[in-house]
Amino acid sequence: MRSVVIHFKELSLKGRNRPWFVQLLVRNVRRALDGCDVRDVRSLMGRVEVTLGEDVPWDEVRERLRRVFGVANFSLAGRSAIDFDVLARALVAMAGARQPSSFRVVARRTDKRYPLESPVVEREIGARVATATGWSVNLAAPALRLHVDLLPEHAFYYIDKEPGAGGLPWGASGRVTCLLSGGIDSPVAAWRMMRRGCEVSFVHFHSYPVQSLASQEKARALVDRLSLWQGETRLALVPFGALQQQVVVSVPQELRVVIYRRLMLRIAEQLARRWKSRALVTGEAIGQVASQTLENLTLIASAARMEVLRPLVAMDKDEIMQTAESIGTLSTSQLPDEDCCTLFTPRYPATRARLVDVGEAESRLPVDDMVRAAVQATVVELRERRAGAAVGVHTARQAP
Ligand code: ATP
Ligand code: MG
Repeated sequence: MRSVVIHFKELSLKGRNRPWFVQLLVRNVRRALDGCDVRDVRSLMGRVEVTLGEDVPWDEVRERLRRVFGVANFSLAGRSAIDFDVLARALVAMAGARQPSSFRVVARRTDKRYPLESPVVEREIGARVATATGWSVNLAAPALRLHVDLLPEHAFYYIDKEPGAGGLPWGASGRVTCLLSGGIDSPVAAWRMMRRGCEVSFVHFHSYPVQSLASQEKARALVDRLSLWQGETRLALVPFGALQQQVVVSVPQELRVVIYRRLMLRIAEQLARRWKSRALVTGEAIGQVASQTLENLTLIASAARMEVLRPLVAMDKDEIMQTAESIGTLSTSQLPDEDCCTLFTPRYPATRARLVDVGEAESRLPVDDMVRAAVQATVVELRERRAGAAVGVHTARQAP
């Protein structure tokens, strides 16, 4: 019988919450493998075991499990009785044609009541493997590690460890709403929040029909990609062009970027409250563009009566781009589009806008009405794409 043994690390730090975290992880693994022939997913003495059906392709399972947060590593494993001869034979068979220059056995006891200590088990199985294969043992720096996890009733044996996605299980840290432009940063910000266990909903502002549909298409493509790490994902598309035109009439050029951002946050806050999100998330980072000064960032956040989280605030562009590349959002982000914020914005925005000036400019705008109208005109799409599976995108429209 083939199993996958999933190990988690950070989870074990969570004290009394631990059973709940493990339950979430089991649920998320089940969801991720939905549609695969999986017999059982269960929590088992500090690990999660997936029992695979006969014909499940390992490549597919591996691909999907790599996107489950909360997993430290996982392995395709066999299961056997705790019998040193049987385990040694099984491990040699599992190694197949490999001819390592050296090896060692790594044993872990989950049940400390098991009478033999791990080094003894390692020696016993290692000696049998060495006799059968002629491989030499190297404890400090082996070319191949043969793993045995000892459980009370049986043992798992495996060789290769696949790196997991790390972080915390999706859903463990509550809901947040991310302001998603078509740029490089905000998708990375959203992914980092997902990795910390947050369920992320998205808001995209566009200036259609003044500008093309390109930015909405990008936002959809980015959300589809990001939804590989969570389940069904909400995307709100908010028409922003009319508000911008109102701003242009009465707000001096250099303040417009800050005013747009403050309006965006107020609108996003309304949506976030409906969706029971606890915080807003943006892709802002200090000093990345001229307007992202500490002064402007604080001034922008003060428009919302909700926490604004900026997971990228202290990251370099290079690091952000690397992450964007590794999660597969970079190429979409780099497609040309017309971001609504390039509309009616000056080349030289204020780098240190002042609250008095912003307050004065906003006092000339019907801010509450503008926010209300934008929320009413918002279209919400539910975009579903189960982890790893190309089951297509299911789009349902909802009232905001
Ligand atoms: P990004 O690469 O995410 O666009 P950026 O470095 O280009 O970020 P800005 O364009 O100034 O910075 O945007 C800062 C943040 O404001 C974005 O990360 C995003 O969270 C939010 N934002 C900007 N434009 C939009 C938009 N059209 N829709 C939704 N959110 C937006
Ligand atoms: Mg941008």
